[in-house]
Amino acid sequence: MILCFDIGGTAIKPAEAHDEQRIVTGARIPTPTHDFGAFIAVLQRAIETASIRPDGLAFSVAGVVDAETGLATVANIPCLTGRRLEADLARALGLPVVLANDADCFALAEATIGAGRDHAVVFGLILGTGVGGGVVVRGQLINSGGFAGEIGHGPVAPRQFDDLDVTLPAFVCGCGLHGCLDALCSARGMERLHNHLHRTPDADSRAIVSAWVQGDADACRTVSVWLAALSGPLALVQNVLGAGIIVAGGGLASEPKLIAALDIAVRARCLQRFVRPLVVPAQCAGEPGLIGAAILGLRTLGQSTQ
Ligand SMILES: [Zn+2]
Repeated sequence: MILCFDIGGTAIKPAEAHDEQRIVTGARIPTPTHDFGAFIAVLQRAIETASIRPDGLAFSVAGVVDAETGLATVANIPCLTGRRLEADLARALGLPVVLANDADCFALAEATIGAGRDHAVVFGLILGTGVGGGVVVRGQLINSGGFAGEIGHGPVAPRQFDDLDVTLPAFVCGCGLHGCLDALCSARGMERLHNHLHRTPDADSRAIVSAWVQGDADACRTVSVWLAALSGPLALVQNVLGAGIIVAGGGLASEPKLIAALDIAVRARCLQRFVRPLVVPAQCAGEPGLIGAAILGLRTLGQSTQ
């Protein structure tokens, strides 16, 4: 059994992975964010109270690990930043550890048992609090540290939309750059865009999407710019990777009509002509981070029954 943890800024979600079909989730635990000793103590308790002694530990972490230095950056959990996290966890907990970024775990879950399962090259796209992604090629994550597939960061967001008569500033991003897709196309980005276009400081992304579905003119303008901004870079991702499918998860992806509109916009900009959907909603029910960590743990630590 591999004991899995989805480590988020507010909660740690545990699960026991007996095999890829039998992943049993446990109760959420508040995340100790500033005290590494307390963080380890919480995990140690979970190990001691597991149904059997785990063979190893698998972590999905809302952060990135530099593959060359092993150093982690986890914005919402300062006590993990700057550590050689995989090695530090293995040493402190006395068990083999495998660790991956949460968007990568999502991509691996979808590529293995979700919407990407019939495709050799899968791009997992997160459209939620942030914009992120992960790449899986023939069942293998490409650079599980979390940098591969990070479409959200880099100064590439279009600013000139002639068809819509819109010119945008390069919005500043949390990563320090200007003009990232994360700053324009995440849930907060859509709200920022709506406020810029319509002077609505209290805009909520769910309300914007729901108004768009109902044909509200302001929401339609916002979503048209959002689709135009996101679809070009996504089409380029497809061109570069030759991805057979782009699986979208995160809060904004919970509206199927938005993903269907994104699919049409992306396909219109790809070099390859797709006569079937390319951008599709995620299928993994429940906890894709935990499922991805479980798959990675079972495969890497040698306990898979597959
Ligand atoms: Zn950025």
